[in-house]
Amino acid sequence: MKRNFSRIFFFGVFIFTVILTNGCATTYNAATGRREIIIIPTNEEVTMGEDIHRKLLTEFHLSQDKNKVGRLKRIGARVSQVSDRQDFEYHFFLVEKDELNAFTVPGGNIYMFTGLFDKLKTDDEIAGVLAHEVGHCAARHTIKKFQAAVSYSLIGSIILNTLQMEEQLQRIATLSTDVLMNLVFSAYGRRDEFEADRLGIKYLDLAGYNVNGMLEVLDVLKQESKGPRMPLILQTHPYVEDRIEAVKKEIERLRSGG
Ligand SMILES: [Zn+2]
Repeated sequence: MKRNFSRIFFFGVFIFTVILTNGCATTYNAATGRREIIIIPTNEEVTMGEDIHRKLLTEFHLSQDKNKVGRLKRIGARVSQVSDRQDFEYHFFLVEKDELNAFTVPGGNIYMFTGLFDKLKTDDEIAGVLAHEVGHCAARHTIKKFQAAVSYSLIGSIILNTLQMEEQLQRIATLSTDVLMNLVFSAYGRRDEFEADRLGIKYLDLAGYNVNGMLEVLDVLKQESKGPRMPLILQTHPYVEDRIEAVKKEIERLRSGG
């Protein structure tokens, strides 16, 4: 009992040390307006994203259609330029797959499937999807899913054995690929979805796109969810009906200058 307590105490000291060695106890997040504890620094996050990208390329093919890829990257660049988070570069990838899906991995890599891209008619709608994903990046929702998993893994290993602190730190970047992949395709929470929509609308507006693009995309997903195949994007981004109501209110608020 006493032994367990001392290890839990050690974990507290460890987290405190990680926070100290990262420069400060909390970081102000301009997108959310909150101060947050960020354990995984940006360079570590980018490395994690590169690892996941390599793994994704073994499972998926990127589209070779220069027009479509160019359009996606052009719209993505315009939307991400106005993001509150600029400590990494954003990259946009079009995956050749006939499914309605879009997702984000740590480090600013954002993916859209051709099935969704082809379903969207206007640049405003494509921008709507990308702005929502950029919102997840800016608010650090994506890295926080991973950070939570890292923390659990660290707590477990520290309590169960006595690895040195250096080794524990190295573990941050070496979660198994299966764990990483499961996290990529795991759902965001309700609050994160609403926040990504709110930020997405803000970025659409700042980038000069029609904010209705966001609403049109959600309507497409709502219609498709009634069909034979549930859109994959709703697995990672649930609560579509409630989001439509919240997005309408947010657009009204924006128009009334509130
Ligand atoms: Zn989302």
